[in-house]
Parts: sequence; structure tokens; C-alpha cells
Amino acid sequence: MTDQERIEKLKYHYRETLEVLGENPEREGLLKTPERVAKAMLTLTRGYAMDPVAILNSAKFREEYNQMVIVKDIEFYSLCEHHLLPFFGKAHVAYIPDGHICGLSKIPRVIDIFSHRLQVQERLTLQIMEAIREALNPKGVMVVMEAEHMCMQMRGVEKQHSCTTTSSFSGAFEQAKTREEFLQLIKSS
Ligand code: ZN
Repeated sequence: MTDQERIEKLKYHYRETLEVLGENPEREGLLKTPERVAKAMLTLTRGYAMDPVAILNSAKFREEYNQMVIVKDIEFYSLCEHHLLPFFGKAHVAYIPDGHICGLSKIPRVIDIFSHRLQVQERLTLQIMEAIREALNPKGVMVVMEAEHMCMQMRGVEKQHSCTTTSSFSGAFEQAKTREEFLQLIKSS
């Protein structure tokens, strides 16, 4: 399906949705809404067409540095696959290279790609960790994500501003001491 075909199809369904919700899709403010929502949804799910491991491999360098590399406070925005409502927050990534590093800007790119798919926070965290492990084969990787979920907050399921934290790790981060070092470093901001 081409992008134009997808927009047309989505437009049709969002127009129906407005009607079912009791709105008048012909009123001025809503006239272009189905098309805008269709385009927005395609943007918010653009990550399906991108390959995070390939992005990491495109900026992978041989380097003997073997201490922890940390990229913290990376903003992300995603859509929960259960309600199609946003969840967003900050991600923190650490890895210990084993002969290869990647361009630092590629780590936020990887997060951006996976978060522009329909997600649950747990799987998102794991997928980021696994992509880095696959591309760089480091001594260890750890990803921590903190997020607010609109499906909980807007529907009143949980108290406002409650924050969900998930983490995923491998290799050297299986040792509590190494995890502790990383958690300590992301706290001191
Ligand atoms: Zn949800």
C-alpha cells in the first residue's frame, strides 16, 4: 500500500469514528481532522519502516575504550498498544564496549525508531537493549526507562504523574555492582 492509499483509508475510518462519537465531521473545525489524524498516526508509527540495528552498524567504529559509555536523559514519546494513547519520559542507556563503539547520536535514534511503533514500555526497553547488543556485541548493555502513561492518567486509573520505571540488562550488568554504578550515575543529574 502506498502512503497516499494508507492516508485515504485511515481518513475514511477516522471520519466514521468522529460520527460514532457523536460529532459532526462536516463542521468547520473537524473538516480536515480525519486527514490530519491519519498523517499524524503514520508519523507516530514510522518506526516500522526503519531498521535500528542497521542504523547502529552505519556508525560503528573499532575502539579500545572499555569503560562504561552512558547516554542519559533521552526524551522519548511512544504510543501504548492497548489504548493508542501516549506514554513518554526519559531513557538512560549504558554499555561497556568490547572493541566497538557507535556514534553517540545513534543511541537516541534507536530509541526514536522503537518508540515510533505501537509499544508496551517493557518490550520497548528490551528491544533497545537487544538492538545495541546485536549491533555492538559489547561486554554489557543496560537500558532504564521512566515514563508517564496517558492511558492511566487521563482515564483516572492511577494517580496523576505516577511514573513507571522499567529496565533491561545483559552481560556485565548482570552483576549488581555494575548496575548500581550506572544507576548512581544517572541519579546525579
Ligand atoms: Zn494503555
